[in-house]
Amino acid sequence: MRSLLNEVEIQERVKTLGNQLSTEYANRPFTVLGVLTGSIVFVADVIRQIRVPLQVGFVRASSYRGRTTRSGALQLELDLLPDIEGRDVLVVDDIFDTGRTLAALCDVLRDRHPRSLRSAVLLTKRGRAEVEYRPDFSCFEIPDEFVVGYGLDYNGEHRHLPSIVVLEEGDL
Ligand code: 5GP
Ligand code: MG
Repeated sequence: MRSLLNEVEIQERVKTLGNQLSTEYANRPFTVLGVLTGSIVFVADVIRQIRVPLQVGFVRASSYRGRTTRSGALQLELDLLPDIEGRDVLVVDDIFDTGRTLAALCDVLRDRHPRSLRSAVLLTKRGRAEVEYRPDFSCFEIPDEFVVGYGLDYNGEHRHLPSIVVLEEGDL
């Protein structure tokens, strides 16, 4: 495994995002909506850097199988989704790769009539987007490599690592 982003630089960047969101969402009915499971660590860290009232909810999206770079059929599970009608919603995901997950999820969420709908991701993979949609906030741009840690997994493992590391052939 090769380190790409260490714990300190992630925490610094997440704090900056938290400050920015505290300004943007002051005096708003603010809902942070995490995309399970990859966003759990990012959500937990960023909400603790936000100093205005907010609610937290989750949805589940799955499309990814193992280490493949092709995206599979996207499945969205909305049974955990709180009422977002009239609320200012920020969808939070771990990584923007092809963008199909966030684009499809935002289409579905718009039907629930939020007051506003934006998105934040920890990572954006360079040169991979297959949709026009772009996240409103992105902490780091990374090369097209398979990464794990800080919520991101390979076959369900490595989510607990505090840094972002590149998984290489020899690690499999
Ligand atoms: P997209 O729909 O943008 O292609 O894919 C987004 C989802 O694919 C992410 O939420 C994440 O679950 C998964 N994904 C994309 N790239 C990576 C990666 O490098 N590592 C891991 N662990 N998951 C990834
Ligand atoms: Mg995901």
